[in-house]
Amino acid sequence: MSVMYQKVALIGLGLIASSMARAMREHGLVGTITGHARSAETRETALEIGLVDSVHDTAAEAVKGADLVVLCVPVGAMGVIAAEIAPHLASGATVTDVGSVKRAVIDAVGPHMPEGVHFIPGHPLAGTEQSGPRAGFATLFTNRWWLFTPLENTDPEALARLKSLVEAMGANTDDMPPDHHDLVLAVVSHTPHLIAYTMVGVADHLRRVTHEEVIKYSATGFRDFTRIAASDPVMWRDVFLTNKEATLDILGRFTEELFMLQRAIRMGDGEVLEDYFSRTRAIRRGIIEAGQDTDAPDFGRGPKKDA
Ligand code: NAP
Repeated sequence: MSVMYQKVALIGLGLIASSMARAMREHGLVGTITGHARSAETRETALEIGLVDSVHDTAAEAVKGADLVVLCVPVGAMGVIAAEIAPHLASGATVTDVGSVKRAVIDAVGPHMPEGVHFIPGHPLAGTEQSGPRAGFATLFTNRWWLFTPLENTDPEALARLKSLVEAMGANTDDMPPDHHDLVLAVVSHTPHLIAYTMVGVADHLRRVTHEEVIKYSATGFRDFTRIAASDPVMWRDVFLTNKEATLDILGRFTEELFMLQRAIRMGDGEVLEDYFSRTRAIRRGIIEAGQDTDAPDFGRGPKKDA
């Protein structure tokens, strides 16, 4: 494919940035890639494994002359980085981000963006529980959604160009208002993560009582929870701190449903339980039919990487 951006700056060099770098290189979509991460160790690794053509000690240095800047740091770090890079952005450059929450990123980054720079918030709905520059792989975005939450004044041409890039990396694209994005993600991602963290926390507590049997004999359901609950602590801390209202709303609904099921169990009401589980099974079937997962019986436990 042809080169879509001459110089891309990746700020943050973890799972998402390293997957982008691999996908962009594999498909020949960009000229050069520069990078910056907080620690020298990550910067050196990124250079050593060939993710980027150059690394820089500061984000400001990394973005100089870039026609695309991608902010791939935890949501809570986006505002500080935006303030730092703002005076160094090239006129006409596009700045996007991959943060899991959109309203907070828009509020933190938007005010720093200079006239003549296109700020287009985005979020790839793709990830694993792994972190760091070695965690990425080129097919992470294949057939996954990449949502954009354009602003009122977003330039349609800049948006179309950015969409072409992520589509060339294998993603499907869609637009959504930021607050709606945050509510949808609270349902499909943020609250489920919180529940997984809680369940593993409960089991950890019980482990002390049951002499490690919870771990030793962990059944598949629990193992799936532990995989989700192994996700990056800083990233998820920031998600809950910045998508507070939507998460609390969904958590409230979750608690109500849980009480309802608790009551059905107490009352021995099998009809309620079976009805409920039949509805949830149909949702799972819908996800598989939409091509967003496989019904392979070892889902979540087999190798996820293609290389
Ligand atoms: P990650 O693997 O933990 O990598 C984060 C990167 O950001 C690291 O290179 C880290 O540098 C760097 N960083 C952190 N704070 C920084 C700062 N203040 N200045 C400069 N660099 C900083 O994280 P990730 O999974 O790629 O997530 C990145 C973003 O993508 C987050 O906003 C997250 O919400 C979003 N996202 C994640 C997923 C997922 O499943 N993981 C999915 C979709 C979107 P060091 O290595 O030096 O600490």
